[in-house]
Amino acid sequence: MRVAVVGGGVSGLGSALALARQGHDVEVFERDDTPMPATADAAFDWDRRGAPQVRHSHAFLARLRNMLRDDYPDLLEGVLAQGATEMRFGDDLPPTLTGFVREPGDDDLVMLACRRTTFEWVLRRAALGEGRVTFRSGVAVDGLVRADEPGRPRVVGVRLAGGGTVDADLVVASGGRRSVVPEWLEQIGAPPVREDVEDTGIVYYSRFYRLRPGESYPPRTGPIGGDLGYLKYGVFVGDNGTFSVTLATPVDDEQLRRLLTDPDVFDTTARNLVATAPWLDGRAEPITGVHAMAGLLNRWREYVVDGEPVATGLVPVGDAVLCTNPLYGRGCSTAFWGAHLLARAVEAFGDDTREVALAYDASLRSEIHPWYRAGVEQDAEARRVAEAILAGRDPDADANDPRTFMRGVFRDGLLPAMRTDAVVLRAFFRSFNLLERPDAMATNADVGARVLAVWQMRDQRPPEQPLGPRHRSDLLDLIAA
Ligand SMILES: Cc1cc2nc3c(=O)[nH]c(=O)nc-3n(C[C@H](O)[C@H](O)[C@H](O)COP(=O)(O)OP(=O)(O)OC[C@H]3O[C@@H](n4cnc5c(N)ncnc54)[C@H](O)[C@@H]3O)c2cc1C
Repeated sequence: MRVAVVGGGVSGLGSALALARQGHDVEVFERDDTPMPATADAAFDWDRRGAPQVRHSHAFLARLRNMLRDDYPDLLEGVLAQGATEMRFGDDLPPTLTGFVREPGDDDLVMLACRRTTFEWVLRRAALGEGRVTFRSGVAVDGLVRADEPGRPRVVGVRLAGGGTVDADLVVASGGRRSVVPEWLEQIGAPPVREDVEDTGIVYYSRFYRLRPGESYPPRTGPIGGDLGYLKYGVFVGDNGTFSVTLATPVDDEQLRRLLTDPDVFDTTARNLVATAPWLDGRAEPITGVHAMAGLLNRWREYVVDGEPVATGLVPVGDAVLCTNPLYGRGCSTAFWGAHLLARAVEAFGDDTREVALAYDASLRSEIHPWYRAGVEQDAEARRVAEAILAGRDPDADANDPRTFMRGVFRDGLLPAMRTDAVVLRAFFRSFNLLERPDAMATNADVGARVLAVWQMRDQRPPEQPLGPRHRSDLLDLIAA
């Protein structure tokens, strides 16, 4: 088949590689007119304004790493050769955790520490090196071409923004979170794509640092982030001595939003957060300013409506299908996973593009959609808490509210259990890394009993310490000082 891929980010490149390796001829159209930098490190300054999130922290979860290990070992080797490292469950355990015994499944519980630009550079290099992939840099697509026949549209090519069209047997829409594929589909007479949109409720601030010569990362045996209700944060290990810190404020907190764009305020804040403080103790120097990103939506688009594709000959992947809260670090994994599911559907149904669309849609719904829903629910609760704090109310004031109970179990049960019980810690990380279904922890009776046992002992130990200034006003005082 001739495949046209619209967008050369993670999902587009993942699809291009998978389909080319199946023997299809692939042409990738990428709007950014910025040639590939000479090295992965130089890619850190790559002008990728079509994917502005490359300036932000990225976690690469075990689900993604395992797909590379199993299906694209050359890519895994490639990122490791460029300085990425593997972070294995069991290597950096809290000192309070006893009785850890490595289990066979722990070989799957490995994250990649890598900058997003390094990952994408390796992926693009692999695609360019694939004989069947042509990469058209600086060529934007601005519409679809449909076959001249009645009924639901059959897409037979793409329209280029600079003029002209390109024929294709299959169009992969991988234009990312700002892609307007639903509009293109309507323009060729397709029924509307169904969209579920929910705000994540946060704004993102990221800054990158590099270790000074002779310095090393601090021990990674404690928390790597925290949620203070009014501020969420995390530290992300990169490649080649780099790391980044991300702070996320509620959308409505205009005061903190304004303050955190100042690099000095950002660093002062990070120095006062338990998980990031050791990283900003002088061992590293900043290599970027503070990058901010708003408009972070959860969004799921359905291109199969009432059991029929809105158009055949077109399949969307990555953020063109689903966007999730970046704090959970899932987007690249679900983008690459989606590309993999697409390739499986093409392998099974070849040029029967209706069957490809249906099979692909069914696998997205069963394998990836549960993660989307889980994220939306988690965000709704986080927004409720943030709104209460910003309005000066105690989010836990109503002791009869089941959400108050759940927050208590999380704070006084799950968090301390993760410091002492390898079974709970493993279950948490397997879920976080997309290796289980999202409800796996909640439905695991053994894990539940262990967490509740720790929660029941809460009055026999000192209260849990917050992972940063307890109150928003405390942080504001520190910043002002
Ligand atoms: C702030 C932030 C932090 C994130 N952190 C993480 C993280 O920690 N871990 C993680 O896994 N994920 C993270 N993500 C999500 C992840 O970045 C995305 O899910 C992933 O990039 C999706 O890949 P994609 O290929 O669908 O889109 P993108 O990577 O955005 O690529 C889309 C490409 O399409 C091109 N394009 C768009 N329209 C056209 C057109 N008409 N013609 C030609 N080209 C076009 C764009 O230029 C771009 O290159 C984060 C996202 C954000 C916003």
